Amino acid sequence: MAYGNNGDFQRKMFQGNWKCSKCDADITELPFEPDPSRVGQLLCRECHKAGRSSFSGGSRGGRSFGNGGGERKMFQGNWECSQCNSPITELPFEPDPSRVGQLLCKECHRSKRGSFGGGRSFGRR
Ligand SMILES: [Zn+2]
Ligand SMILES: [Zn+2]
Repeated sequence: MAYGNNGDFQRKMFQGNWKCSKCDADITELPFEPDPSRVGQLLCRECHKAGRSSFSGGSRGGRSFGNGGGERKMFQGNWECSQCNSPITELPFEPDPSRVGQLLCKECHRSKRGSFGGGRSFGRR
């Protein structure tokens, strides 16, 4: 095997000793480093291919992830603004459960940004 950075021609492969979660075939290399918490969900090439082709056809609910469209995924939920207590039903990110008490609605978010560095009209309690 030749080392060396032949750039994008050859993908770096990660060697390992995993198993396909579907057909139990051995997986000895992957084009990415698997997350330790997901090694139970790995798929061999065959299963991956099969899974992919049935993916695009079906209406399985759930849009295709990671296709980098112009549209941002919004997360639906039932939160409250920590400042004005107005309900928040969607966010452009998935809030950390430990931080849901610090969420801000769009209005508050904007006003916070705007008054940043300027005067502090809001007294913090
Ligand atoms: Zn498989
Ligand atoms: Zn608010």
